[in-house]
Amino acid sequence: MAEQDIIQRLTETGAMLEGHFLLSSGLHSNRYVQCARLLQFPEHATWAGEKLAEKLPVKAIDLVASPAIGGIVIGQEVAKALGVPHIFVEKEEGTPVLRRGFAIEPGQRVLVVEDVVTTGKSTKEVIDVVKSAGGEVVACCAIVDRGGGDKVDFPFAALIKLEIAVYKPEECPLCKAGLPLDKPGSRKIL
Ligand SMILES: [Zn+2]
Repeated sequence: MAEQDIIQRLTETGAMLEGHFLLSSGLHSNRYVQCARLLQFPEHATWAGEKLAEKLPVKAIDLVASPAIGGIVIGQEVAKALGVPHIFVEKEEGTPVLRRGFAIEPGQRVLVVEDVVTTGKSTKEVIDVVKSAGGEVVACCAIVDRGGGDKVDFPFAALIKLEIAVYKPEECPLCKAGLPLDKPGSRKIL
């Protein structure tokens, strides 16, 4: 039931588009997900934070950490639902770090929160920063699992797992069918 609810909210807000898209990787796909379009509405953001907090496989959490920019809004909402603080990891000359005086106390139990997990790369970056700051990562979660959830080495929860077909341009059946290619970036929704 929660899964139908999240699909409806993603669709209503234009956060999940169906069609023929050029991804930033250069590949083509039949679906496009941009959680920021869901999270721009505080009501949806709070709802998603509460649902993720309910679904967590681990309940004892001291702190939430997210990757900037995509994870900040949902990280804050999950932290609010759990009643714990939230910090975010950002890039400094390409290296993920804690800035702004954010700190982790040794042994703090940390939940890593993302909007979308695609390859698991940014989740892993946050995990590494948390570990090197002395924290203990206990679980990870995301609104949308695009397949990266399996690559996370910690208990993981997502509101929905979305299968998104991805094609090389020369092998794309949507191109062969003559469907016009949409470049989400050109409409500034990337
Ligand atoms: Zn195509």
